[in-house]
Amino acid sequence: MSDLHARVEETRGILARIARDFSPAVFASSLAAEDMVLTDLILKAGLPIGIFSLETGRLHKETLEVLDKVRDHYGVEIALFRPQPALVEEYVGKNGLNAFYDSVEMRKECCRVRKVEPLGRALAGKKAWITGQRRAQSTTRAELAVQEDDAAHGMAKFNPLADWSEQDVWQYIRDNNVPYNSLHERGYPSIGCEPCTRAIQPGEDIRAGRWWWENPESKECGLHLVDGKLIRIKSVAA
Ligand code: SF4
Repeated sequence: MSDLHARVEETRGILARIARDFSPAVFASSLAAEDMVLTDLILKAGLPIGIFSLETGRLHKETLEVLDKVRDHYGVEIALFRPQPALVEEYVGKNGLNAFYDSVEMRKECCRVRKVEPLGRALAGKKAWITGQRRAQSTTRAELAVQEDDAAHGMAKFNPLADWSEQDVWQYIRDNNVPYNSLHERGYPSIGCEPCTRAIQPGEDIRAGRWWWENPESKECGLHLVDGKLIRIKSVAA
């Protein structure tokens, strides 16, 4: 059995266990390549795991097009959670539309309004959530475990692709004809909001295009942080 085949089988097993033991569980998809692998595995197995995405209001049109690709390919609508208009108006009115370039604090506050608050609504009442994070993606993810105790949201958090490589992800996408964001073909290995993501040069770190004006240690959007601080998420043996 090839390494990838073994990884796929293991990931299928993890997803089936989440569906069985942690219902209701949801998958937070950023619509990036990793998340399309998980989408494919969840939908083809017919698992009762809801899939949602955070529509921040600042996404690339290519990212929004992935929603259409998923609908066409699988006949499934990904649920969208949007920021509260009043909170966006308050932030923009007080700080300006692109204040996130001014400081890490301003950036985290924008992420809080556009991502963290909607995420809280998406996770309400759930027993577990799933992400497409991988260890190899950045220095902040080097110790990522497959299963974590997310104390901030009071539930389990799963990263079923934690030990997948970039090559594994693309091999799976090619082998299974999985739809993906066309920006990946234009130098964007990691994709977030449009004003906070840029293409990278060959050889650069794969998250170098995310919040490129900040240092690597602060490059998380707050979804895995509490009140701006990294939470010590307790790893749980899978
Ligand atoms: S990634 Fe940028 S635009 Fe998107 S929520 Fe965070 S700071 Fe705001």
